[in-house]
Amino acid sequence: MILRGALLLFSLVPAMSVADANLHIDSLAEEAVPEDPDAAALAELDWEAQPGRTAIERDHSRWWRVRFEPQEDNHEPRVLALREVFDARLVVYRPPDYRPETLELFDPNAPVVGSRHRLALELESASSDHPVYFRILEARSQPIGLSATSASSYLESDRQRVRFTSAVLAASVLLGLVSAIFAATLRRLAHGLLGMWVFFGGVYFAVLSGEALVLWPGPVDGGVALQAASLVASIGTLAAFSALYLFLDIRRAFPRLARVFRGLLWMVAGFLLAGLVFPGAWLAGWMNLLLLVLATITLGVAVLQARAGVGQAWFYLVGWGGVTVVVMARAGHFLMGDGTPVWLEYAHPATHVTSALVLVLAGALAARHAEREMHQARRRAVTDALTGLPNRARLNDRLQELAQGAQLADRPLSVLFVDLDHFKTLNDTHGHAFGDRCLQEAARTLQRHLRQHDLVARYGGEEFVVVLEENLGDASRVAETLREAVSKDCRRVDGHEIHLTVSIGLAHRGYGESLEHLLERADDALYRAKGGGRNRVVRAPDPVDFESTGRDVRDETVY
Ligand code: GH3
Ligand code: MG
Ligand code: MG
Repeated sequence: MILRGALLLFSLVPAMSVADANLHIDSLAEEAVPEDPDAAALAELDWEAQPGRTAIERDHSRWWRVRFEPQEDNHEPRVLALREVFDARLVVYRPPDYRPETLELFDPNAPVVGSRHRLALELESASSDHPVYFRILEARSQPIGLSATSASSYLESDRQRVRFTSAVLAASVLLGLVSAIFAATLRRLAHGLLGMWVFFGGVYFAVLSGEALVLWPGPVDGGVALQAASLVASIGTLAAFSALYLFLDIRRAFPRLARVFRGLLWMVAGFLLAGLVFPGAWLAGWMNLLLLVLATITLGVAVLQARAGVGQAWFYLVGWGGVTVVVMARAGHFLMGDGTPVWLEYAHPATHVTSALVLVLAGALAARHAEREMHQARRRAVTDALTGLPNRARLNDRLQELAQGAQLADRPLSVLFVDLDHFKTLNDTHGHAFGDRCLQEAARTLQRHLRQHDLVARYGGEEFVVVLEENLGDASRVAETLREAVSKDCRRVDGHEIHLTVSIGLAHRGYGESLEHLLERADDALYRAKGGGRNRVVRAPDPVDFESTGRDVRDETVY
């Protein structure tokens, strides 16, 4: 579904261009225009041509005249569309009656054609070749782009713009949510910050495209809406750069640069707060400059990291490179004061969504990676590295489980303590590495002669513990089998003739006996096996009912 959304976004790219070569802009100083002029008075003035101009600057002291090339089809109304007029208030004089109209984009009653992506004014077909005059009462520092087309082609491209924006908004909300879920489940701050950026970007586009107007219950003050959108976008951008700081691991890879980077982030935060108290264009200018610097640093870091083979950096370059370049271009245009070109109007949301997509993919891969790492770490934590057998920690857990299960089902439980004989001598003679090989060989032999559900673990050093759900008699037979197996199978290791043997102490669990006590008894039996000459099995005496007598049976007969 996400892929289809992305394809839809790109299929709309050809709809980006709006023809605007068929208008001419003239201007005149305010003083040269009489008070409350009528059409005749305006037509008689000596207008100064502004050849090649398709945008008008914010200049309160000037009047503007827009003339049109004759239309091929004169029966169609024409539309004059003004871009980036979010917080502008204009007085417009349009044919046929040239009565002054005060217009604002976000005024729900403004006579605007189509959506609020533009302040689009319809000119009736009969007079659609007549000029339009206007004056800007209030506007921010961005110039206002102008375009003129036939009403039908304007409405067609407007529909496509609305479709595009809806797709961007839906994708931003969805991807922001997915990132938030990743952040919560993986407990990764970077994903939370990125999700915030994706979602806030969506809100920004919703306001700038006028789509938020539909959702807002009351009348909308364009200036306030724009300020709120810019604030949300700036917080989102701050979150994005903070996320990048974590994502590219700048702190570890470039410690000195990291300090500068953090300083810049704090400065952006400072400007954000200052902007709340003293709103003004100069702050926005500084903020854009800071963001340009941050974007340049992150691009540079990502290129260096990618060249060094860091996978995360490739994600950034592929997924975020586009949006970074676009945001840099946008900030650049803002700094130069020439407004946002039409292609950027589309490229910014489109790259926003595509990089969010890559981010979600990176999140999914991170989740898989994290799970695999967790799984491996968990296995490593309970496995003995040399023999691959469960380690002592795992033995303790499993023994507990087995004991509980045996008690519930009234099954017997026996424990064997297995210790290699004269292992120190073997180590001393052939070396520690050879000793390791013998340990592996012994472990394999024990495993080979046990059943799937029997438990064998490396207890430590050259000692193993075997847990069997058997009574003393059967457990004794198993122990004997193991002893014989080692003495037969481990005669030759790595070409060396050795006679590896084991001594085994065996204990059967008495009713209510603690596991510590059971192990202790098995260990005692082992001690006796050693004392008795090694390479043998010794059974601890049958325990009596521990709960009723609490009697220690260790001193009783050794079999
Ligand atoms: P006994 O028959 O009385 O058990 O004699 P032993 O030499 O086997 O017993 P002791 O406890 O004196 O020595 C155990 C030796 O096991 C000492 C130690 O160097 C060796 N050992 C313990 N862990 C490892 C290991 O991981 N690798 C190797 N190669 N040797 C180990
Ligand atoms: Mg030993
Ligand atoms: Mg030992």
